[in-house]
Amino acid sequence: MNVTHRQMSVRIERRGLPGRNGSPGDSAAMERIMHGATAETEALGQRLLAIIQERQRQDPFRLGRSIDERVLRETVGETISAKGIGADAALDLWLDKLGPYNVACDHPSYLAFIPNTANEVSIYFDFLISAMGMYGASWIEGSGAVYAENQALRWIADLAGFPDTAGGTFVPGGTLANLSALHAAREHAKRTRHGDPPRRWKLAVSAEGHSSVVSSARVLDIDLILVPVDTAHRMTGAATREALAHADTDGLIGITAAAGSTNLGVIDDLAGIADVCAEYGVWFHVDGAYGAAALAAPSKRAAFTGIERADSLIVDPHKWLFAPYDSAALIYRDAERGRFAHSQSAAYLDVMHGNDEWNPADYAIQLSRRPRGLPFWFSLVVHGTDAHAAAIEQTLVMAREVADLIRADDRFELLNDPELTVLVFKRHGWTAADYDAWSKSLIEREIAFVVPSQVNGEAVARLVILNPRTTLDDIRRVLATMD
Ligand SMILES: *Cc1c(COP(=O)(O)O)cnc(C)c1O
Repeated sequence: MNVTHRQMSVRIERRGLPGRNGSPGDSAAMERIMHGATAETEALGQRLLAIIQERQRQDPFRLGRSIDERVLRETVGETISAKGIGADAALDLWLDKLGPYNVACDHPSYLAFIPNTANEVSIYFDFLISAMGMYGASWIEGSGAVYAENQALRWIADLAGFPDTAGGTFVPGGTLANLSALHAAREHAKRTRHGDPPRRWKLAVSAEGHSSVVSSARVLDIDLILVPVDTAHRMTGAATREALAHADTDGLIGITAAAGSTNLGVIDDLAGIADVCAEYGVWFHVDGAYGAAALAAPSKRAAFTGIERADSLIVDPHKWLFAPYDSAALIYRDAERGRFAHSQSAAYLDVMHGNDEWNPADYAIQLSRRPRGLPFWFSLVVHGTDAHAAAIEQTLVMAREVADLIRADDRFELLNDPELTVLVFKRHGWTAADYDAWSKSLIEREIAFVVPSQVNGEAVARLVILNPRTTLDDIRRVLATMD
């Protein structure tokens, strides 16, 4: 490097914080803001590590709850000041006044929405990503991280039965993964279409498809062709064929199916829908944000038949694959199609594209990125794939046992035979308001987090079991509160 001492000192000065009139600020402030391994930062690190380790030891740890903003305004007030309050006081502020008002999504009694199942090793590894300034957008900066993430993607691709051409990246969530995949589907349709562009681009999706597919279509400004579900809330190939026969399909870019619907955990008729995609020559996208994790469970693999014909597949490690938020895997059957749609080009990025190295930024709507697939990869490396499969099998067994528990209780009517790990049931005599009051009181007392849902327009109780640490006793405790 031929940087002279003078140039170096200029650089260091420039890194100082600007003072009042734009001149370099005092270097003490800079020292304080950036690392300096001061006694204060070291103590902070130790306190944090102790808190995190203690949380892993506690069984169960605190569930947490939410609170009115009005109360926080009164009890916490302004937190940010010109001078700062120092690390100790800031951490105390968080621990005493804000931390308790967050619900732990990985708690065994968190049974609402779709829970999180982050395990200890993935949580620890997640720290390292921030601590090391890791950047996962390009091979030149993150080759080790990208190599590791790609092995984790390959594990999923192999479970799905994808060919060697498959590849993709990790994005923050299923929503961005769906959007990125559907953008690639439309780019592919554009590129391969003969003749004039259509009046409108279109996507066929189940009438009960995830809200993020609907919102992706809105972002992309494409129209939806809704396919009615059968009585088991499943989208079938036959119904899809029928819906398309009655629609104007000019501009159809593809069909989206769910491998595990969110409300009921239903796996759509993937093989039948793949056939329809082949008949129309359109993209087959599988939204497996929640359910595709069960590809790893040998007892469930057959239910996913047809997934191997998908053009794109998503699955969230932050749901049922034991990783912390946030992480969604997006895999294209032919990675080239993802790159064609997403690669960004600019003078300052050309250095990234000088060769055929793998740049994750090329496969989704993102540039700068945390290598958010790494905690998931680390768990696979530490525990092995068998342990992951066994933990998923365990939750499937637990869901069936809970189904039996509900069936055996004459206060309840179970509304689904669980395909995966979602259970919906009615409490005889309850109105929508009763379910709401019950849900609210459970979380206020930090007993469990359960939110009602609707099936066929009727209010129902819904339990989602993803955590291998959830026990039948946890569930019994929740059911006991439904008197
Ligand atoms: C959770 C979910 C999504 C959205 O994923 P996020 O990670 O929350 O953005 C999409 N589709 C299905 C089927 C889901 O269950």
